[in-house]
Amino acid sequence: MREALDDLLRAARAVVPADAAALWLWDVAAGRLILAAHQGMPAEGLIHELDAAEGTAERQALTAGWLRMELPGDPLPGSLHVRLGAAERPLGLLHLRVASAAALDDAAIGRAQALATVGGRLLEAQQKAADLEQLEAAQTQFIHVATHELRSPVAVAQTLVRNVLKGYVGTITEKQHHVFSRISAQLDHLESLINDLLDLAASRSPAAERVEPVALNGPIGRAVLLWQPRAEEKGVTLNYRACREEIIVLATEDGLDRIMVNLVGNAVKYTPAGGQVTVGLCQTADEVLVTVADTGIGIPPEALPNLFQEFYRAPNARAANITGTGLGLAIVKRLVELYHGRITVESELGRGTTFTVVFPAYRTAR
Ligand code: ADP
Repeated sequence: MREALDDLLRAARAVVPADAAALWLWDVAAGRLILAAHQGMPAEGLIHELDAAEGTAERQALTAGWLRMELPGDPLPGSLHVRLGAAERPLGLLHLRVASAAALDDAAIGRAQALATVGGRLLEAQQKAADLEQLEAAQTQFIHVATHELRSPVAVAQTLVRNVLKGYVGTITEKQHHVFSRISAQLDHLESLINDLLDLAASRSPAAERVEPVALNGPIGRAVLLWQPRAEEKGVTLNYRACREEIIVLATEDGLDRIMVNLVGNAVKYTPAGGQVTVGLCQTADEVLVTVADTGIGIPPEALPNLFQEFYRAPNARAANITGTGLGLAIVKRLVELYHGRITVESELGRGTTFTVVFPAYRTAR
């Protein structure tokens, strides 16, 4: 931002032309003008904070849009103040000084006003971007705090319900068992929603952006190990031939874990008994390819464009009563793109799906 303000002052000095220029920004909370940039101004005459009280030149310029003055005896006697932004919502004040007061004619004032309009738009755009960033950070923080608070009561409730189901608190009837099983399934769903929301918040946090060289072998191996018992339980074969050489990408270990746990977990989840899930890892001259292929339920072609949207679930996944939150792939895509990679999907309904993640290869300088 600082550079853009300096450019604006340079442009004002060249175009008006002016010998010195300064820019004050309007601090709404304090109701004061704060000096943001200056060029060629005599240091002793520079005021860093201005009240813009009634009657001052600054106040007049803020109200009227501009103010031209002559300061006899001053080395730069020509003075022009031009407001940035609208009168009801001023953004700042551009102050120009010239050696010859006569140079500040109507044409010069017109040029200064045109530049002030551009400057005002620049400040507005910057303010909007900052507001959006703040909003997103607040949203992420809210998700994080809310889900953390929800996590333990849900886990406690799940333990209590499981104790009832196992008969630890006395004999229960078949009907009661049925009701408690349904409560337990709902709590499972709530737990995965909380975990996915926490993952989503983590993928938006600044920590996700602090990348370093990481070997992909670890996260892939861990994800396969994590899902192996579930695959066995379902009668799904989970294949991964670990490669010996380390394949390095620029990412965070935590982010790669989330990516792999989601993709391998989905493949196991959406593949019925007797099916196969195959995880592959290979490196070309400048790219690293991770594939997760399954022989599962597949994805209808019309669902493919929406797959990476938050909370989206394909109709066949819903119809098959497979629980999910629709957040996993949105998190995966966000992280993959954060690491300058891309993710693609190929699928045939009823036959299977392959997700391919491509990262730029990382090479250490030898
Ligand atoms: P979910 O929690 O629903 O699995 P995801 O964001 O991980 O959420 O996936 C979004 C949707 O993409 C899923 O609901 C499902 O419809 C579809 N999907 C993802 N992976 C697969 C897969 N391996 N096979 C079939 N459908 C999949």
